[in-house]
Amino acid sequence: MIEENVKRLLGELPEGVTVLAAAKERSADEIFEAIRAGITIIGENYLQDTLMVINEVKEKAQWHFIGHLQTNKVKKVIDIFDMIESVDSLKLAKEIERCCKRRNKAMPVLIEVNSGEEKQKHGVLPNDVAQLIREISSLTYVKIMGLMTMGPRFGDPEESRPYFRKTREIFEQIKDFHLPNVEMKYLSMGMTNSYRVAIEEGANLVRIGTKIFGQREGRYH
Ligand SMILES: *Cc1c(COP(=O)(O)O)cnc(C)c1O
Repeated sequence: MIEENVKRLLGELPEGVTVLAAAKERSADEIFEAIRAGITIIGENYLQDTLMVINEVKEKAQWHFIGHLQTNKVKKVIDIFDMIESVDSLKLAKEIERCCKRRNKAMPVLIEVNSGEEKQKHGVLPNDVAQLIREISSLTYVKIMGLMTMGPRFGDPEESRPYFRKTREIFEQIKDFHLPNVEMKYLSMGMTNSYRVAIEEGANLVRIGTKIFGQREGRYH
């Protein structure tokens, strides 16, 4: 089933759009099957979960951290992951810088935007994105490569459109700044329910869980 889901999804996506398989709660076998079917990027929300599966997944893939990252987890996360999509503070960026410096390793990151300006959500507010990026761009080992947003959850994906559009506008604006050490390459937005709308609004990286793996048991939601 996973294989068919992946093939159907890959066949449907326009050129230039990459799909990340959001793998929270999924087993190593499920992840392996997705990679075999053509998935190249696995997204994980929790370090602990990732440690349980990553060594069992024999097929090669890129691993993106997409959950909220606490500073005390940074050291392990930079050892395992190829990109962190959820950087939303200078404090976190500085901790990544510190750990990467020790290992002499650059870390690609996306800045997570709280496009819905929701109180309980992580991410930097739209009005603060440019300032945060200017500050992080002065770091050496942290490489800003774009933006990520979740946006508010709606039953009707059309309602997500304004939030994706706003994030795209910020993305383009920052691209125009031509900041050193900043390459605005990836715009990560859209999930199972909303990825079609997100792509119409400029997403080139979509994070899909349910549509690939089926419904989750609901341990995390
Ligand atoms: C779970 C998750 C997704 C995918 O959600 P689905 O609705 O299952 O496609 C995407 N992004 C993040 C950050 C997630 O935690």
